[in-house]
Amino acid sequence: MTRQLPNYIDGRWAPATATDHLPVHNPATAELLAHVPLSGTAEVNAATEAASRALPAWRRTPAGERIQYLFKMKQILEANMEAIARTITQECGKTIAEARAEMTRAIENVEVACGIPKMMQGDFSEDVASGIDEIMIRQPVGVCAAVVPFNFPGMIAFWFLPYALATGNTYIVKPSEKVPQTMHLLFELFHEQLGLPAGVLNLVHGGKTAVDGLLQHPDVRAISFVGSTPVAKYIYSEGAKYGKRVQAQGGAKNPIIVLPDADMEMTTRIAADSAFGCAGQRCLAASLAITVGEARHTFTEAMADVASSRVVGYGLDEAVQMGTVIDKANQLRIEQLIQQGANEGATVLVDGRSPHIAGYENGAFVRPTLLHNVNPAGQIARMEIFGPVLSMLHVNTIEEAIAYVNSGQYGNMACLFTSSGAAARQFRYEAEAGNIGINIGVAAPMAHFPFSGWKDSFFGTMHGQSNHAVEFFTQTKVVVERWPREWSRQF
Ligand code: NAD
Repeated sequence: MTRQLPNYIDGRWAPATATDHLPVHNPATAELLAHVPLSGTAEVNAATEAASRALPAWRRTPAGERIQYLFKMKQILEANMEAIARTITQECGKTIAEARAEMTRAIENVEVACGIPKMMQGDFSEDVASGIDEIMIRQPVGVCAAVVPFNFPGMIAFWFLPYALATGNTYIVKPSEKVPQTMHLLFELFHEQLGLPAGVLNLVHGGKTAVDGLLQHPDVRAISFVGSTPVAKYIYSEGAKYGKRVQAQGGAKNPIIVLPDADMEMTTRIAADSAFGCAGQRCLAASLAITVGEARHTFTEAMADVASSRVVGYGLDEAVQMGTVIDKANQLRIEQLIQQGANEGATVLVDGRSPHIAGYENGAFVRPTLLHNVNPAGQIARMEIFGPVLSMLHVNTIEEAIAYVNSGQYGNMACLFTSSGAAARQFRYEAEAGNIGINIGVAAPMAHFPFSGWKDSFFGTMHGQSNHAVEFFTQTKVVVERWPREWSRQF
């Protein structure tokens, strides 16, 4: 019988009481892997109550002791990297190398959060008025939760979780119902080896009902969300309605600008990795290439070669360079969008639709696709496709290119390829995006920098990772004190 995934609540596996389940398939082989429960309010309430009960003791545990669990967590993740990466590939479809890289980024966040004792240190000012001192201390927010998407089943929860725990909060993770097994495996490892006090870290599977349960529960004080923009907006406004802190990362349409003076060999290689890595299902995937002047010809020709020669197949095969998209429904959706691009006037220069991958005939594959001369006023040049499709359009000046970038809805990432320092500075200064790449195709910030995002790519103030996470997961308390000298006893 296919395994039914349980929730993990109060330090125990809790068989889900939900009657609704979804199947989880391997998107390359179509094998049925598991069933994930669509948990209801009762399970969310149980997890929240467990996290609330665990909070007072966890909060009183010194930060230096709390981070000992993170040191151990890092060891557990490293020791089990291969099993975790295989699970990611099996349920998400990316290559095994991409899955390993994903977990490396997760571990990096655990490492940075080990610096919390210093990062959450307060402030002290003596004699703000005569004999009066002022102290600012940071205290945990309370029970916090993460709602995460399918495209990085192991990494994204770690943009938040280690910081939340290290700052003294208790936590609930709600993974994507499309890829629930990776988080299940991580919780199995933590259950067996980490030894966190019961209730500090909980796992609730499900979809909208579970998320609404978290949004509406008065004891959930903060929610970190990563996913599509419509849902991010919903989480942000609902969270505000229920008085919560919210950080909500949304979708993207990431442009890269290629100037004629760019190193074309390097640019093409990097741009292809950005557009087709993780089958384009990366929030920092290049989705629109804007070539300036003469770059139009050189870049287009080189990209056509790279796109058509990429090795596509099952991600567990080490030779494969690009795996599947998440499921058949998304394969179909992406193929329809390629057609829409053509209908809007683009040429399908490299067509990745309906590929035949020997041995994986039922897999959800789309090969790398290039839409050349997309209509700048059409939808395809603007909307997130979230698949291995690079749209290309051509302009005459860098000013035109930047203006086009800045007129878009999203602001997750924008990149420039050039050998001109002045052009790079102009771009860095003017481009409206939270992550900027200069001769970089995936401008993913290291864990000690915030994962920024602008416009419809982010709703909130404090981002994930870094000292932003410390701000998000702590509330400041300012104490103004007067201790008159005449009150001191003579010792
Ligand atoms: P999604 O928005 O469909 O789902 C994300 C999470 O929200 C899941 O856990 C899902 O169960 C939950 N959810 C879905 N619909 C909901 C609803 N109506 N109400 C409440 N909760 C709901 O996103 P996805 O398809 O899993 O992931 C792909 C999207 O995530 C893309 O748009 C991508 O750009 C975005 N993403 C953004 C970043 C970033 O850093 N900005 C990173 C990764 C992915």
